[in-house]
Parts: sequence; structure tokens; C-alpha cells
Amino acid sequence: MPPADWLQRHSLRRFQNALLRWYDRQGRDLPWRNCSDPYPVWVSEIMLQQTQVATVLRYFQPFLTKFPTIAALAEAPEEEVLHAWQGLGYYRRARNLHHAARVIVNEHQGKFPSQVEIARQLPGLGRYTANAILCFAANQRLPILEANTVRVWTRLTAAASDPAKALLNGQLWHLAEAVLPERRAAEFNQALMDLGSMVCTASRPACEGCPVKSYCCAYDEGNPESYPAKAKRTPSVDVEHVAVILRDQTRVLVRQCPPDGRWANLWEFPRVERQEGENLSSAATRALASVTSAPFTLLGQRQSIQHGIMHYRVTLHCFAACLSRTPRKKKENLMADPRRRWVEVDALESLPFSSPQRKLVRLLQAELASEEQPA
Ligand code: SF4
Repeated sequence: MPPADWLQRHSLRRFQNALLRWYDRQGRDLPWRNCSDPYPVWVSEIMLQQTQVATVLRYFQPFLTKFPTIAALAEAPEEEVLHAWQGLGYYRRARNLHHAARVIVNEHQGKFPSQVEIARQLPGLGRYTANAILCFAANQRLPILEANTVRVWTRLTAAASDPAKALLNGQLWHLAEAVLPERRAAEFNQALMDLGSMVCTASRPACEGCPVKSYCCAYDEGNPESYPAKAKRTPSVDVEHVAVILRDQTRVLVRQCPPDGRWANLWEFPRVERQEGENLSSAATRALASVTSAPFTLLGQRQSIQHGIMHYRVTLHCFAACLSRTPRKKKENLMADPRRRWVEVDALESLPFSSPQRKLVRLLQAELASEEQPA
């Protein structure tokens, strides 16, 4: 049914009351809720993008302890922010958060903008995020639409087309705004999110316990899991990366990723993408030759790690290598480049690495620990 027809058919007041009554009893108690300071709400909303609540709960408070205010976040070096974000993935979010904090300090006297049109211009803030922050922190009557609420609305209205398509997307935003109560807008939006997360789940929704099942077209049809309509998936592509841990006694060679791209400014062991027809050892040699002219010996392959980036399925092959000798002059040249460093293994913890590269750090630490064991 078109969302506009659903609106006509139901008593909004009763729908709002049913949902809010359920929320008063069953809503989640999350540390960023009931907070009138937009900063913690903003941090939580950025962390929650593409990330489960359970994971965000582990990162949220430590991040705020480290950067307790927008000003503290703005003052911190980017490397520190990336380090605090380590393990959450999607590092662009952290860079945007940091950049936006600096914009707020420089252009808005350190205060998160209270006008949604201005908030939306900050780096990393789209319509949903800006609305959510100002709705939750300032109880502004602003609609929200994210994965959970899209699922709830497409089921309530039995909307047949793909919600990513502009027409339905616009209708859903309109609906999300029209149903908002005059008071308790923040709790109403949180109730919808909680309903999507706890009851109207992607698979096997608990319809019998749903507080709004009498308003639900998909429930009437008996096929809630058919909604939302599935978007066409981009087929997965397999790629292989090769990284090399080059050791010189207790030190290893690392480099900083370029300032743009997925892992911008994170650190890593020298890495290349394996080219078609290239064997792994040749790729490993190429990875090292791209960062140092020092003579080295490849010691062999250590481990392969699988991970995903968007629609890419990546296999990261890890090699070990050691310096054949230590030509002091060349090493000094290398150390003069701030984006390449020889680092003590113990000091690797202080640098931000991507999750797959962090696994290589653990591998190296385990290898060193076993070398230190008495024979
Ligand atoms: Fe979702 Fe079922 Fe409730 Fe409909 S009745 S909103 S499908 S949980």
C-alpha cells in the first residue's frame, strides 16, 4: 500500500500511544539516551553506522573518556583519534568526526549547531544523522529513517518497491515526519528503532508480541519477511593482498597509508595487491621494494587472513622477511620519510592499524614471545 494510504487509514494518536506505551516498558536503556548534550549523541550515532550496538557499547565510553568534549576531540592529533577508533572499522567515520569537531570549534564557537540545516553541512552528517542528534539531544521534532525504521515502515505499509529507490524513499521520509507526535518525538523515534531492533527483526520478526501488529499490512498478509524488497546485490569480487613483516632485530618496518582512501593515515606493514599471474613471493618482494632499498631476505609465508571490504572478499597473505645487512645510510634515509618508520615491536600498540593489519601485529608479537621462550 502507498505510505500515504496507510496514513489515511489509521488513527495516528492510537498508533503513537501503542508504540510509546511499549517503549516505556521495553525500550533499551543505552548510555547515549536521555542525554541533552549533542556531543555524546553525535559520537554514538557515528559509531552506530554499520556497527552493532553491542560493539559500540565497548567503544563509546572509552572514546568519551579520552575526548570528553568537542574541543578536546578537535585538539587531538588525527593519529590519536584513529587509534581510539581502532577495531570499529570504517575509519572514514572517525576522520569525518574529527574534521567536523574542528569545523565546530572554528566556525560555531565550539557548540554543535542547533539548526538542522547547518548541522547537515558538517562532514559525515547526512539527513538521518543530523536529524537523530537534534531530535534525541534537543527533542526537536525531526523524522528519522535508518535500516531498522525502514524495515518497520515497509512492513507496516507493505511497500512493495526497493526503499533505496527515490520515490519510496521520499514517501517514507514523509511518513516518518507525519507520524511524529507533538511531544515525545525523541522517544517515539527511539521506540521505532527499538521495535525494529528487538521485535520487527530482519528474520523471524516476533509479530505476536508486536505492539503495533493491528496496524501492520505485512502481518495481515502473513509475509513480513518479504519486506523490505531486496535491492540488487553487487556480486562479490575476490582479491589478494600480500603484506610483509620486515624485521631488523626487535624493530619492524611500517608505513602510513596515503591520506585518501579507505585506510587513510592508518599504519600497515608494506602491502600490495597481487597482480594477475604474479606469484605470492614476487608480490611480497614488490611490496618491500616499494618502501625500502635496503637488502632483505624473504623468510617465507606465515599466515593468510580473510576479510571483506565493501563487495570485495580479500585474502591477505603475510610474509616474513629480515634485513640481509643493515646499510646505515639507507636506513637513515628511510627514517627521514615520516610516512615510513622502523618501530620497536613493543611500540606498535601506539599506532593505529586496520583490523586485518592488527592481526599481523598479534602474529608478530606471538612469534617474538615464542622466540623468547627458553628452549
Ligand atoms: Fe514488524 Fe510483525 Fe510488528 Fe508488522 S507485526 S511491525 S512485521 S513485528
